[in-house]
Amino acid sequence: MCGIVGYTGTGQAAPILLDGLAKLEYRGYDSAGLAVFDGKKITMQKAVGRLKVLSEQTHDGEMMPGTSGIAHTRWATHGAPSRINAHPHSNVERSISVVHNGIIENYLKLRNYLAAKGYVFESETDTEVVAHLLDYYYNGDPIEAMTKVMHRVEGSYALGILFLDHPGEIYAVRKDSPLIVGKGKDGNLIASDVPAVLKYTRQVYFIQNEELTRLTEKDICFYNVEGETINKELSTIEWDVDAAEKGGYEHFMLKEMHEQPKTVRDTLMPRIRDNDVYIEELGMSDDEIRAIHRIHIVACGSASHTGMTAKYVFEEMARIPVVADLASEFRYRDPILEKNDLVIIISQSGETADSLAALREAKKKGVMTLGIVNVVGSSIAREADKIMYTWAGPEIAVATTKAYSAQLIAQYLLAIKFAEARNIIGKEEVAELLKDLKKLPDQIELLLHNKGNIQRFANRYIAAKDVFFIGRGIDYAISLEGSLKLKEISYIHSEAYAAGELKHGTISLIEDGTLVAAVITQEKLYKKTISNVVEVSSRGAFVLAVTNEGNTEVEKVADYVIYIPETSHYFTNSLAIIPLQLFSYYVSVGKGCDVDKPRNLAKSVTVE
Ligand code: GLU
Repeated sequence: MCGIVGYTGTGQAAPILLDGLAKLEYRGYDSAGLAVFDGKKITMQKAVGRLKVLSEQTHDGEMMPGTSGIAHTRWATHGAPSRINAHPHSNVERSISVVHNGIIENYLKLRNYLAAKGYVFESETDTEVVAHLLDYYYNGDPIEAMTKVMHRVEGSYALGILFLDHPGEIYAVRKDSPLIVGKGKDGNLIASDVPAVLKYTRQVYFIQNEELTRLTEKDICFYNVEGETINKELSTIEWDVDAAEKGGYEHFMLKEMHEQPKTVRDTLMPRIRDNDVYIEELGMSDDEIRAIHRIHIVACGSASHTGMTAKYVFEEMARIPVVADLASEFRYRDPILEKNDLVIIISQSGETADSLAALREAKKKGVMTLGIVNVVGSSIAREADKIMYTWAGPEIAVATTKAYSAQLIAQYLLAIKFAEARNIIGKEEVAELLKDLKKLPDQIELLLHNKGNIQRFANRYIAAKDVFFIGRGIDYAISLEGSLKLKEISYIHSEAYAAGELKHGTISLIEDGTLVAAVITQEKLYKKTISNVVEVSSRGAFVLAVTNEGNTEVEKVADYVIYIPETSHYFTNSLAIIPLQLFSYYVSVGKGCDVDKPRNLAKSVTVE
C-alpha cells in the first residue's frame, strides 16, 4: 500500500522526500506527510489530498530545513483520511517520529494497554500505537526498542523512524510490506519501492521480512530481530522507471495478481483470534445477527460475482436466504425490503454510482445497510450503517483481481460469523473453516507459480472468437468472473452459463474447437457438470477444466486440467479464480491489448 521515503545525507531532506513521494504516487494515496530533523527538533507537516498540497504548504520542502527525514503517502485503513490521521505519528514528547505502511492487527489491544499506562492518543490510526510502544521500550538504543516492538505487534508493517537523540540517523524495518534501501553518493535512502530512489542511485538493498536497518549519511547497517548485525548483498537495478513502478512486473494486473496472497492475509488475519471470527467494526450483537431474515447483496461487475458466491455460502452455511442483485437493477426496481432485511453493498472504490444509489435506496426504506469497501472514507463507507473494509490496498489495473479476492474473504468471514451467531455451526466447524481460510494465501501462491503453463495454454487461444465458461452453484459464480475477466481485457466474446442451462440454448453455439472452460469444484455436483462436459466435448469443444486435486475423473473427459489445492467447498472460488485470471491476462498479453487500461473501461465507475 501507499508509500514511504526516508533520506539522510548532505542535501536538504524535504525536497528529496517530496520528490520520492511523487515517484510513488502511482501506488494511490489519500493524504501525505513528512518529518524532518533539523539537528535540534523534528518538525512535521501533513496534508489531505494530493501531494501538491503538501508541496505548496512547505514551499516544495524549502521551508523545512534539515538533512534527514521520513515521508509518507497514506492509504487509510484505520481512521478516515484526515490531517490528524496522516503520518508521521509521534510519541507524546515528539522525540520519536514514525511512518508506517501496512496494518497492525492487534492495535486495539495495544492501544488499550498503552492508554492504561497513561499514553494519550491523537489519531484513530493503528500506526500510532507503534510510536507510543517505541517510546515505552526506548532506553536510548533504537534497535533494541524496535526489536521489542516487533515482538509485540502483529500484522504487516514497513516502518521508517526518526529518534530525536540520534541526529542524522534513520531507522527502518519491515514485515510483509515492501521496503528497500538505496545507497546514494550524497546520502542514503529508504523507500517502499525502487522508483523513489532511482534519481539518486541504482544501488539498492532489498530488506527481507523482520530485518532492521540503520542509515546515516555514510553507513548502512542491517540487523535481525535479535538485534544482531547481518550482512546483505547490494543489487544494481537495471529496470527503467516504468518497469520499476510495477515492481518489475510487466503490468499492474500481474503485480496485483501476485499481491493476492498478501491481500487475502491482510483482510483475514486481523479478524481471526483464538479460532474465532471478530468483526468488531460492525458493532453487531449476536441478537442483531439472529434477527436478520434475509440478505440482499447488491453490487456491480466483479463485486457482484463475489456477492453471487456469497449467496451460496450464506445460504448453505448460515441458512439465511440471500438475494444477489445488480445495483443498476436494484435501484430502479422499487425493491421489496422488510424490517429485518440486511442490504450488503460491495464496491472496491466505495464510489460506484449504481451501488451508492442502491445503498441510498435501501436506507430510504429503513433497512440496515452494510458496506464492503476498499477505500476508507469513500461515499459508501461514510453512508452505510455498518462498514467492513477489505484492506486490499490501492488497485491500479482496471480489471480487478486483488480487490475481488479480498471481497470474497470479507464475505466468508461474515457468513461464518452469522452462522455461528445463529447456532447453525459450532466451535469445531468454525475452527475447521478458519484452518482452511488460513491456508488460502499459500495455496494462491502455489497456483500463481503455475503461470508458465497457463501462459503456454493461453497462447493457443489468442485467436479465439468465443469462449464459454460453465459451472454449477459456486462454480457458476466463478465462471461469471472468469468470463468477465477474459472479455474485459482480451476483447474476446465469452459467456458464462450455469452448466445445466446449456441444453436450453447455448449448446447450439458449440463448434469444432470452441473453448469451454468448465469449473468443477463442488463435489456434490461433480457428476452433473462432468455430464455437461461430455455433452460439449462430443460436439467438438476443447475443454479446459479447473477442478479439485484428486478429482482425476475429469481427465477422462477434459482436454486440459488445472487442479486447485484442497479447501472447504465454500472457499474454492478463491483458488479456482487464480488460473482463470492468469489465463485472461496471458490471452490479453498475447493479443497485444492494453492490459491495465482496456478500451472503453474505467477503474471506478462513478457515472450511471
Ligand atoms: N494502517 C495505517 C493507517 O491507516 C497505514 C496505512 C498505509 O499503509 O498507508 O494509517
